[in-house]
Amino acid sequence: MNHNAVKRIDVEVKRVSMESTALESMKFLLLGLLREREQPQRHRDEIAVENAPDTLDRVQREAERDLAIRQIQSDFDRLQSIRLALQRIDDGTYGTCLRCEESISSKRLNVVPWASFCIKCQEIADRENQEDGDEKVLSAR
Ligand SMILES: [Zn+2]
Repeated sequence: MNHNAVKRIDVEVKRVSMESTALESMKFLLLGLLREREQPQRHRDEIAVENAPDTLDRVQREAERDLAIRQIQSDFDRLQSIRLALQRIDDGTYGTCLRCEESISSKRLNVVPWASFCIKCQEIADRENQEDGDEKVLSAR
């Protein structure tokens, strides 16, 4: 059955214009990623910090909890990015940088299908996030 599906897509590729075919396959890919990630929260158990009498143990647990929270945050961000990308496919704005409105290269979209920024704007955004993160770490100490 899967084999037939692949054949059918092959035929459509020749028929449909390149751009909408690329969008369709991107949508298919994103929906797959979304389904994959919309699993029940697997980190929830790890978050609970018990009131351990041993301080060292507690510090260790808190570090683990922080890691788990950060992991959830990045999973959540990714999920959000995937949802937004799907929304942009429907809007017809997919592949356009949200920051500078230049089109995002297809090379980049193939690697990061949920990208909302072009590579240049992503670098700027990453740097800003990095700075935010460092600040939080410093003030937590
Ligand atoms: Zn940009």
